[in-house]
Amino acid sequence: MRIRRTLLALVIAILCGWVPAEVQTRKLKIYISADMEGVVGVVTADQLGPQGFEYNRFREFMTEEVKAATEAAFEAGATEIVISDSHGNGENLLIEKLPKNVTIVRSWPRPLMMMQGIDETFDGAIFIGYHTSTTNMSGVRAHTISSARLADVRLNGTSIPEAGINAAIAGRFNVPVIMISGDDAIVKEATDLLGNIEGAVVKWAVSFHAAKTLTPEMAYELIREKTKKAIARIKEFKPYKVKEPVQLDVRFKAYRPSELLSYLSIVQRTDSHSIRFVGKDIIEVSKFLEFITTYEPSLEP
Ligand SMILES: [Zn+2]
Repeated sequence: MRIRRTLLALVIAILCGWVPAEVQTRKLKIYISADMEGVVGVVTADQLGPQGFEYNRFREFMTEEVKAATEAAFEAGATEIVISDSHGNGENLLIEKLPKNVTIVRSWPRPLMMMQGIDETFDGAIFIGYHTSTTNMSGVRAHTISSARLADVRLNGTSIPEAGINAAIAGRFNVPVIMISGDDAIVKEATDLLGNIEGAVVKWAVSFHAAKTLTPEMAYELIREKTKKAIARIKEFKPYKVKEPVQLDVRFKAYRPSELLSYLSIVQRTDSHSIRFVGKDIIEVSKFLEFITTYEPSLEP
């Protein structure tokens, strides 16, 4: 009788929209964008691509950093995690080493670049292994999108790191960035831009190709700790919004890209090496950036 009465009370409570906290299955979706230049110990191309003699070891360190963030996020209450492998060929993460209940975005091109897979259902974004912008005077492998080709990328007139472009994409979906890992310079650049997000400094930049670094084990521990802190504070963070329409200025290191792109009526050539594109939002800007850094007529298949 008592059980039946309790059950009835619960049914009434649910019908009235009141559900006890422990009965609710709260969803917490986290998006993790993973780059490699900011991974523990990374200093040169020797670690960054298949041609480098240390690449295979450092893919493991990158995977372990992502795994540390992923496991910590689950422990802190995350219910779903999407990871994007967002460095080089987009095929760096050793996916068999990641927790089995995540999904992974791999390879290119992608309309949302390093943020492919994000949407308005996510609660927070985490950046792992990030680096400073090409206009920053410090930071290991400081560059924006392409170290070989681009000398500056600006949104609405301000030079911006990849972390800023990606925060704006997340912000378009009302998702705040909650944590970043990398060297001390990107943690500073990102917190200057995005506010008081959690930052895991896994190395200290000495120059473009030198750093003082933590050991991998220590870096994983730090990333774990900062991820948990970030999720505990998740309600405090605000999505990063850029004013629309969004004006994109790109300065190339070479002369010919700006000359040729200016043949398109949607593109304005602003000086010998620079072009301007205005997108209705950051999504259009993202697609445009992916296009100009990927397209070549020799594309096959
Ligand atoms: Zn990278």
